[in-house]
Amino acid sequence: MEEVGTGLLDRLDAMQRVAASAPGGPILIVAGPGTGKTRTLTHRIAYLCAELGVYPEQCLAITFTRRAAEELRHRLDDLLGEVAADVTVATFHSLGLSIVREHSPSFNLSPDFRIAEEADRITALVEAGAASAEREARRQLNAGVAPEFRDAYRKALRSRDLVDLDELITLPVELLTDAPDLVEEYRAQYRWIFVDEYQDVDPVQYDLLRLLCPPDGNLTAIGDPDQAIYSFRGADVGFFLRFTADFTDARQVRLTRNYRSAPPILAAAVQAIAPSSLVPGRRLDPAKLDPEAPQVGLYAAASAEDEAVFVSKTIDELVGGVTHRTVDSRAVAPDAVSFADIAVLYRTDAQASFVVDALNRHGVPVQKRSHDRLLDRPGVAAIARELRFASGLGGSLAARVKLTAQVLAERPALDVVVSAEDLWSAVDLLGPLALRCGDDLGAFLTALETGAEVDAWDPRADRVTLLTLHAAKGLEFPIVFLVGCEDGLLPLRRPGNPLSAEEEAEERRLFFVGLTRAQDRLYVSHARKRFRHGSEREMAVTPFLSVIDPGLFERKGPEAPRRPKDRQLRLI
Ligand code: ATP
Ligand code: MG
Repeated sequence: MEEVGTGLLDRLDAMQRVAASAPGGPILIVAGPGTGKTRTLTHRIAYLCAELGVYPEQCLAITFTRRAAEELRHRLDDLLGEVAADVTVATFHSLGLSIVREHSPSFNLSPDFRIAEEADRITALVEAGAASAEREARRQLNAGVAPEFRDAYRKALRSRDLVDLDELITLPVELLTDAPDLVEEYRAQYRWIFVDEYQDVDPVQYDLLRLLCPPDGNLTAIGDPDQAIYSFRGADVGFFLRFTADFTDARQVRLTRNYRSAPPILAAAVQAIAPSSLVPGRRLDPAKLDPEAPQVGLYAAASAEDEAVFVSKTIDELVGGVTHRTVDSRAVAPDAVSFADIAVLYRTDAQASFVVDALNRHGVPVQKRSHDRLLDRPGVAAIARELRFASGLGGSLAARVKLTAQVLAERPALDVVVSAEDLWSAVDLLGPLALRCGDDLGAFLTALETGAEVDAWDPRADRVTLLTLHAAKGLEFPIVFLVGCEDGLLPLRRPGNPLSAEEEAEERRLFFVGLTRAQDRLYVSHARKRFRHGSEREMAVTPFLSVIDPGLFERKGPEAPRRPKDRQLRLI
């Protein structure tokens, strides 16, 4: 293998270096979790700019979440210094927003147009005649606007100077489809395009990409088809699988060395995905070779409450007795586990409440984030709207957010109904995001309008992180609890609605994403009883665990000695 003699790539392994230093043209990097995809991507951009004379202003790096974009920007700053500021780092939505903004008159929009909130969308649906009442409109929003009402719906939005979030991608595609000159302009501006998490691209995003990048263009796509988990939002892993057919003479590089997880965790994850793997001959070799690494903890809880208590007690033990811990974190030994090292992951947001309650009782501080849109939270929507109109307020962005919430709590806007609690939880949520945006109100509003809750996650806070599996994608934590590993919950299924083979495969990929977030310790748990669909139900352990070698688990909790008599545990 050719070695590249440059200091910039010294921190990469041989295959990462091949991927990072590949010349122009389309390239697909197929790589499992923890193999350094994001690291390789940033080094590739830095190498191209610093060593091959690529202009940073001609580089466009696209991610799916704002949090991922921030991380990319941060790592580029480290590698390239000042020059990094010239690289465009965007999410698909923020890229779309900038194109729509640049051409707002073409869409009958003023330069100050807004992204529609849920209430705006309902009003527009009713006005378009697609629904006669609000409740019906709400149902339709979830299912997508029916084609025969789409034009009227859009017209209703435009008359209020509004754009639907989904339109941030469709409008640029429509604009560019019949405008070869404009396409050329954009192609000349962004000669180098990089997409992280390419397995989650949807058809409209793919159309936009094809318009921005010719079939033989300098496109670097990087991802893992076994982590494709967004088909419920229209993502199609098929685009990943046919990359080499869509792009001329595309190279393919595979990364198989996992730098994240201890060997038992990685072995369990690889076995878990095997029945549905979309990567022929999938391999993941541990770079961490600690023979002392603990097995995967397995806890069979009597109930969801009992499971939550197990998580809280274990965290208490790991952190060294929360109740005895001093407030001053400097008093804790440097190698001690801190709350920030720990994440609790679950399939549905509804599961979080027991865990939050139990952690609160144990005095464990938490931050909980889902993958839902930020703007769909009433408190966030009200603050975003008020901030836009009250741009004259002084002080830091974080202070202005707080002040705005205060003003709204005392004098609610006439057309928005928010209870004070929504506002204060929004202030907590938005604080870290406001800090990271500096005092740039425009950037902050874009983040609010296009972002998800998880974008407001603060990795530095000394709190335990609670995330849905979807929101956890791309992240890593020294210690991970994956709770609710039960049939019907993970895989998620409504009673009487069997899953198709594809749906079941996607649930298994979610399980794989969850397992592979852990670096040093992983605990999986399931409850025998849980309140679901209106009543308490008996729950069986997930079949996803049954393909994993039982020798990789260490049973936790008081029930461990009774294991041989337990019918459910024998399933594993
Ligand atoms: P995911 O699929 O979960 O998004 P990823 O492939 O993007 O994972 P990264 O987050 O880039 O993986 O890297 C995983 C971890 O491994 C990080 O902590 C990273 O710093 C580390 N890592 C990656 N490559 C190397 C390397 N060559 N040497 C040492 N550590 C590395
Ligand atoms: Mg990544």
